[in-house]
Formats: sequence, C-alpha cells, structure tokens
Amino acid sequence: MRPPGLPVRVSQQDLPSRVTIWEVGARDGLQNESAVLPAATKIELIERLAACGLPVVEATSFVRPDRIPQLADAADVMAGLHRLPGVRYPVLVPNARGLDAAVGVGVDEIAVFVSATDSFARRNLGRPMASQMEMTAPVVAQARSLGLGVRGYVSMCFGDPWEGVVEPARVAEVCAELLAAGCTGLSLGDTIGVATPGQVRALVDLLGTRGVPMDSVGVHFHDTYGQALANTLAALTSGVATIDSSAGGLGGCPYAESATGNLATEDLVWMLDGLGIETGVDLAALVDTSAWIADRLGRAPTSRVVQALAR
Ligand code: MG
Repeated sequence: MRPPGLPVRVSQQDLPSRVTIWEVGARDGLQNESAVLPAATKIELIERLAACGLPVVEATSFVRPDRIPQLADAADVMAGLHRLPGVRYPVLVPNARGLDAAVGVGVDEIAVFVSATDSFARRNLGRPMASQMEMTAPVVAQARSLGLGVRGYVSMCFGDPWEGVVEPARVAEVCAELLAAGCTGLSLGDTIGVATPGQVRALVDLLGTRGVPMDSVGVHFHDTYGQALANTLAALTSGVATIDSSAGGLGGCPYAESATGNLATEDLVWMLDGLGIETGVDLAALVDTSAWIADRLGRAPTSRVVQALAR
C-alpha cells in the first residue's frame, strides 16, 4: 500500500532554504557496481537524472580503463549525452591525460580527488599523502586556466580503516591545499561511512573558522552504519548547502562488505521536502529512474524511499 502522500513540511529556521543535490550515481555509484552497463544505458541514466530536476549530475570518470572497466567508455558517454541547459555535468579526472580526454569531449567542470590520510593516499593514489598535491595541483591549475570549475574530493575525512579516527585539523589542511591550488569547491567524504553528527559539525565548523566559504563546501556521506541522513542534517545546521547523493543508493561501499554505500538521493529528497527545503527534484520521477536502473543492474535499490514508493 502506498503512503498517503509526501512528508508534512515543517521548516526550521537554522537550515538553508535551498540545497544543491550533487548527484553522483552515474559516476561514484556505477563505479562501485559489478554489473557493467552499455554506454547507451549510462547516457539514458544521466539524461533521466537531469530531467528529474537534479542541478548537478556527475557523469563519469576519465580514469585508466584497466583500473575501472565500468567507466572505460567515459568519452563515448560524454560525446553521446544530450545536455540540458542549466544542468552541470562534472566528471572525475585523476591526471593530466584524463583532463585532456575530458576537455576533448567538451567537459566544462571536473573533479579531482585526494586523501586526508596517508594510508589511503598510498593505496588509492599510489603515493604518500605528503606528495599527493604534486600530482593534483598541476591538473587543477591547467583546468582553471581553461576556465573549468574544479571540485576537490577529500577521502577519509572522518575515519580510515587503517588509521582510525581522522582529526579535523588534518582534513582542514588538505582542504586549504586544494583551495590554494585553485579548486572552486570541496567535497568532504566519509568514505567508509563511520562518521557521526558531532564529528561532522566539528569539521565543518573548523573549516568555517578558517575562512572556508560555506558555499564551496559539499559533503559526501555513506550510509554503511546508518548515519548518512543524521550527518547530512548536522552539516546543514552548520551552513553546508551542497549534499552529494546517489540515485537509488547506487554503489556499494568499496571498503566494507556492505550493500549500503552512498546516501540515496530519494532518502535525502524525502528529508529535505519534509524540512521545507527546495531542491527542484521531482521525487516520483527519480524513484522511477532508480527502479529502472536497478532493474538494468539486476538488483534491488538500497534506497528506503524507492523501496517504499516504487511500483
Ligand atoms: Mg561515494
């Protein structure tokens, strides 16, 4: 039986009136799905997500095909995509070669990624944390010189499987390096989903006291331990108004044996709707899209809202 309607709107004074949802399902989500989809299906997914009213649809990643076979068709996807006016389609770019390929297919916004811990930098980037900006800064500079926006993803901002709790001051230093390199935005990643709301407020508030503009800060939560929405609310009350999420909860958690990874966009929209916060997203259309792509992947969506509403 379907519920009687959408949540009752009860606005809160200490929250933003509008939130930008940064949809990562087509990139971060599919990257962590084992079933490989054809480029045409990915293009349809991205176009449907944009048509749902999502303002930012991260589209793909220009990484080495042998590292992530799922995204080996990045250039084909971007070349085949019909882009809606007013919607942003950033792509992840790890290095100069990736940037060249992205620019070659008309990308106007990229994202780079670094780690807040040395252990993860060595595993994911193949170099110590101390030298990660030597690889990343030239890519940021080149992209900025071409007029591209650049988002800096920071992994392991709250906890790390090898190092345990991550201190906010260390994350703030990495954020400062990214901004000094020219990044126009940040995404604070809880890569293994262990953060709790007090940690989130501590980090965001620290960034605020160090002069980081809140309109440049996004948060990227994973629901591995069921904390993603609580952490989102904590970030909102600290002044963050850009939230990363993944349609249907696409993408498992790559560093834990859990089916639950990215915060699901529908679960986020349900909460924001209830708080009277504008997102521009058509929830029913998004639920249909997530049910459709889950079918293509041959598995059920992890989003609670999709499970509750999908026909
Ligand atoms: Mg993620």
